[in-house]
Amino acid sequence: MSIFDKIGNGVTEASNNLSMKAKEISEQSRLNGEIAKREARKKECFAIMGEMHYISVKEQTEPDYSALVSEIDTLSGEMEELKTDLRKLKGVFLCPNCNMEIPNSSLFCPNCGQQLKRNDICSNCGAPLESGAKFCVKCGTRVAE
Ligand SMILES: [Zn+2]
Ligand SMILES: [Zn+2]
Repeated sequence: MSIFDKIGNGVTEASNNLSMKAKEISEQSRLNGEIAKREARKKECFAIMGEMHYISVKEQTEPDYSALVSEIDTLSGEMEELKTDLRKLKGVFLCPNCNMEIPNSSLFCPNCGQQLKRNDICSNCGAPLESGAKFCVKCGTRVAE
């Protein structure tokens, strides 16, 4: 391979990475938009419930909230799924102790100090581990079973 080929490949690789990044960002904003839409609809549902409650008190009737309750539950479930996708995309996860979003490579939570038991990254240097690896390829630390 000539030096010019190498340079050419380097450039394509760099621009591939760039368009990957751009894709990730637009996917992130799409997910954020979907979450915001559901959040807004949830607020609407609560507002409708409030109005129904008002009417029921005023007219002394029994309101039926069941359709709204199930819609809110559906929206909440979908929002959780979207948030999980978003976290995967951003490379973060939730602290099991305080629920704060922290980067995948964290060994301790920056908010509550919880030590994070990870079997996918080295407990010493934070390098990603191959599944089934017994030692870290970066620093040689034994992987806890
Ligand atoms: Zn925490
Ligand atoms: Zn290591």
